[in-house]
Amino acid sequence: MGIYDDLNIQRVINAAGTLTAWGGSCLPPEVTRAMAEAAQCFASVRELQDKVQARLAELTHNPAAYVTCGCAAGLYLANAAAVCLHWGKAFQYVKAHELAGSKVLVYRAQRNPFDWAVRQLGVRLVEVGYPNEVELPRPEHLSAQIDQNTVAIFYTLSGWTARGVLPIDEVIAVGKQFGIPVIVDAAAQLPPAENLWKWTNMGASAVSFSGGKDLCGPQSSGLLVGQADFIAQVRDIGFPNLGIGRMVKVGRESMAGLLAAVERYLRLDHDARARWCEAQVQDGVQGLNGVHGLVAERSFPNEAGQPIPRLTVKEPGDLNFSERLSQALMEGQPPVAVLGNGPDGIFINPMTMVEGDMAIVVDQIKRLT
Ligand SMILES: *Cc1c(COP(=O)(O)O)cnc(C)c1O
Repeated sequence: MGIYDDLNIQRVINAAGTLTAWGGSCLPPEVTRAMAEAAQCFASVRELQDKVQARLAELTHNPAAYVTCGCAAGLYLANAAAVCLHWGKAFQYVKAHELAGSKVLVYRAQRNPFDWAVRQLGVRLVEVGYPNEVELPRPEHLSAQIDQNTVAIFYTLSGWTARGVLPIDEVIAVGKQFGIPVIVDAAAQLPPAENLWKWTNMGASAVSFSGGKDLCGPQSSGLLVGQADFIAQVRDIGFPNLGIGRMVKVGRESMAGLLAAVERYLRLDHDARARWCEAQVQDGVQGLNGVHGLVAERSFPNEAGQPIPRLTVKEPGDLNFSERLSQALMEGQPPVAVLGNGPDGIFINPMTMVEGDMAIVVDQIKRLT
């Protein structure tokens, strides 16, 4: 760990999950190997891009794929592509008033800080529905907002959005009926691996994943999959072509790394991995439940709604527990990153932990409570 020692930075046990602030995920050797190889010589970036993207499309059972520098960048480019398709011209010829008048429909229940990826493009986000379900969401609520300036419907899949939304298949059906592309933020919707093609097969125009979360690709990579004509438009505005895609360019080492990561992800024994995660959670329950008045239990699914169990540790009624313990764990040796579960509990997520980490975390919690 030379670089971290040189900079005097401690290794953190990441028990929080695939959070960007802790590095997202660790890169397996086949990914770093592919990155080092790609970085060490020159090649045509366009040719590399074409071949990597064709291979990614084939591997993920999608009509087309595009490598981005993160899920957010993929959403930015996909919405820019929707603007081009709507006005029937290349992005640099879209007039300022056309761009400012372009409407992207978004559920109010799904507004979140990642939607800057769309806002900063300069389009208008038009909110639909209510966060709650006082009135059940209906397709008419969405279609009523569609007019001649609507360029896309933007939909976020995650475990933390509010409830006042139509299910994605119904949103895609409305999009199809009115000829409006549906663009999906699926940053952390893995596992299962089949999600890589699930929503495009339903008819979504583009679905954006983080490369640096569970895929274990380069942290600043993303995978955009979608329909052939839509992704062709993304490719037109994207790096290495000049224009708005340039500021979200992707190095050749990231393309090679993401391809290696997707190949690995599709080969991975996901059942064995799920069993390993279950075993870690059981070790945590056995090590902590009832100790010093703690309640330790299995929690399911994870924060993104994905089928990975977590351990939750609570001191019921102690409203400072989460903050106190999270901070103490971070100040420990080695530091441990966790997520809060309300004021009186924390979550410990095995998906970013390695063999031996859970024992350390259990010992630390025993010592600190
Ligand atoms: C992580 C995340 C993003 C951002 O992904 P990057 O790959 O870091 O750009 C966007 N949306 C959601 C729902 C996320 O969880």
